[in-house]
Amino acid sequence: MLRRRGRVFARERYIRKDGLPVWINVTASTLLGASAERRYIVVVEDISRRKQAEEKLIRMASHDALTGLPNRMLLEDRLAQAIAQAHRTQTQVAVMFVDLDRFKNINDSLGHDAGDEVIVEIGHRIARNLRESDTAARQGGDEFVVVLGGMTQEGDVRAIAQKMLGTLCQPMLLRGQEIFPTGSIGISMYPRDAVDPLTLLKSADTAMYLSKAEGGNTYRFFVDRMGIDAMDTLRMEGALRRALERREFQLYYQPQVDMATGAVVGVEALLRWKPHNSPMISPADFIPIAEQTGLIAPIGDWVLATACAQQRAWHLAGLPPLTVGVNLSARQFQRQDLVELVARLVHETGCDPHYLALEITETAVMENPQAAVPIFRQLAEMGVQLAIDDFGTGYSSLSYLKRFPIDSLKIDRSFVNDITTDADDAAIVRSVIALAHSMQLKVVAEGVEDALQLAFLREHGCDQMQGFYVSEAVPAEAIEKLLSEAQGTVPARDCPRGCSSAGALEKSTATQGAL
Ligand code: C2E
Ligand code: MG
Ligand code: MG
Repeated sequence: MLRRRGRVFARERYIRKDGLPVWINVTASTLLGASAERRYIVVVEDISRRKQAEEKLIRMASHDALTGLPNRMLLEDRLAQAIAQAHRTQTQVAVMFVDLDRFKNINDSLGHDAGDEVIVEIGHRIARNLRESDTAARQGGDEFVVVLGGMTQEGDVRAIAQKMLGTLCQPMLLRGQEIFPTGSIGISMYPRDAVDPLTLLKSADTAMYLSKAEGGNTYRFFVDRMGIDAMDTLRMEGALRRALERREFQLYYQPQVDMATGAVVGVEALLRWKPHNSPMISPADFIPIAEQTGLIAPIGDWVLATACAQQRAWHLAGLPPLTVGVNLSARQFQRQDLVELVARLVHETGCDPHYLALEITETAVMENPQAAVPIFRQLAEMGVQLAIDDFGTGYSSLSYLKRFPIDSLKIDRSFVNDITTDADDAAIVRSVIALAHSMQLKVVAEGVEDALQLAFLREHGCDQMQGFYVSEAVPAEAIEKLLSEAQGTVPARDCPRGCSSAGALEKSTATQGAL
């Protein structure tokens, strides 16, 4: 009770006669009269409803609406408390990151409502395994975090993780269908792995991806000894998994120029990934990880669909026809349904297959040339162009390639780089062009960076080129601008970087006599 200006306030919880709790606000004012006798006015107010509303608001701000579990904000609070307590009592805290395996499949096949049911049930199952003093929180999506305070040995944490996995994989009946959910758990420990909540959470998240990488339905402890590379790979994998839904990918397009006319006749679609709050990551660094983890399938689908849609959009915008080149990774090329996928996307986007060129590296083709033949045939029958990428870096012979219905060879930029300084590279490029022409194949030179390289390629009859000399890869709008303003040829003033256009080819003729 506190006394202020003659008024007394009290806010207390009482139990009513019928046993129900009630919140009461009491206000008492002292009336000081002339006599020494004191009088009081006492107002007793039932504020149970207001109190309930307040509590509901506090709960809503700190709990997840779907599962009723604490949310990330409350979790961080509880984790900080658990750390403080462990510090006082010289014990440890375990942070467990729990993520359902293949949850996307459930959502995709049974719908989001069913997905929600699974999340709620999993939330119950996780919470059931815990002591009163532990915290289970929903981090978002199908990710849960558990904080176990006052731990003294790792063995106890292992036992809890094992029990948790056992509970998660109990069958669940959903829309008449029995599903068997499994989870991947990553664990970090205070104070061994970190002493602050955020680093502990991040370490548990990283360890969780190690469980995923091992096929799921398992737990892994964060290991500080994990090499930096492995850590980077794991983090990247985690980030890659979320990149599609977070719309962090973008396709850039690098113009391809016809050497005879100087006109832009095609573009190569090149994937760009800019994770939120991080610098751009090169496809050379993340495509191999996407391949290893199978993430290349959804990413590759997105690339193909986006490039096809872009080709159609340019056509509708009245731009001159452009062949859009799309890179296929080795793993995409092995997909059973590649031909159907391309056919479906061509149909859905309305793109013209004659202006779609699929680029497959020489190495990918040579992994299984027998299997490649029918795939190439079916794609060619649809009218799709086929290009062998990075030619010269693998072990194929031109005579072998004769069996494939391909349209062009792209000479790897490592050869083009040195054509004007290295006699061997110059000889290789010359003979590749001559032999390719004898087989009616078009030759595209990659990575042309200067006028001398361009002059050499032109002299030896190379058909098309791409490279920083004309333009690096740019967003779709920049291509549109280049083409619409120049009506098919590219004026130098619009070059995105340096002298970077087909106009620049003409300019180089004038200034350097290169063409
Ligand atoms: P690539 O298919 O051989 O693509 C050509 C690469 O050379 C691109 O690098 C391009 O930016 C770069 N380049 C072009 N002109 C020059 C030049 O004049 N000088 C130099 N130094 N480089 C030049 P980027 O975009 O980093 O892509 C690297 C590789 O990643 C690609 O090689 C391709 O194998 C792969 N990639 C890119 N996008 C995709 C994609 O959507 N799917 C798949 N599966 N792979 C992709
Ligand atoms: Mg390519
Ligand atoms: Mg290439």
